Amino acid sequence: VTEALYLDDGYLRAFSATVAEAGPGWAILDRSGFYPTGGGQPHDVGVLVSDGDRRWEVSSVEKSDRGIVHRLAEPAHVPEGTAVHGAIDWRRRYACMRYHSCLHILSGVVYRRFGSDITGGQIYPDRARMDLSIPGFDRRLAEDLIREVNEVVRRAHPISVRFVPLVEAERHPEWVRVERDLMPQGSEIRLIDIEGFDAQADGGTHVRTTAEVGLVSLEKIENKGARNKRLYVTVAPRDPPGE
Ligand SMILES: [Zn+2]
Repeated sequence: VTEALYLDDGYLRAFSATVAEAGPGWAILDRSGFYPTGGGQPHDVGVLVSDGDRRWEVSSVEKSDRGIVHRLAEPAHVPEGTAVHGAIDWRRRYACMRYHSCLHILSGVVYRRFGSDITGGQIYPDRARMDLSIPGFDRRLAEDLIREVNEVVRRAHPISVRFVPLVEAERHPEWVRVERDLMPQGSEIRLIDIEGFDAQADGGTHVRTTAEVGLVSLEKIENKGARNKRLYVTVAPRDPPGE
């Protein structure tokens, strides 16, 4: 099974690894910084480069029982045991991190006002959406929620990752809202803590402070049925750190 480096360090953009298993057009590494699709956050893209300067483009990444599978843009077979350097498309990942943290802030705002009424969410590199089941939801209420989100952004709460014993998590059902599929099987859960505001169990990658999310705008709302409403948000463009 691949060691998932992004779980401890979301700002890791490059890493060294060894090919553990491979076939035409795919490779599983012993460790990886590439985020595989999950929890509403899309997979990373990037490159793998060998010491012998061979270069493979990674076009998609997914989880499997045997580890993190890197799908290559061509049907190349990278020999097992090959030492590679991985580099992720940092601009795309950083945007996803800002949107992921943005959705957690929005989820916290909604939870505080209405209890748990979030039915889903999806992050894209250029927008994010959240599905809600709130009575009386309209454009005005949505604008109101986004105003509160921006208030949390402005206060620059630190966002930290910690691993919490399952027994402690059982006393906090509010930590587990929408991303139940990402609950680890072991004795700990991974908690994303927007310090002083909200905490949620989560397997995704996040920015270090709510300030990095930047100004959030309501893009549009959609009716998906009598109770199901959908809202889309965008964040102001921002260069990733270190570029
Ligand atoms: Zn999340």
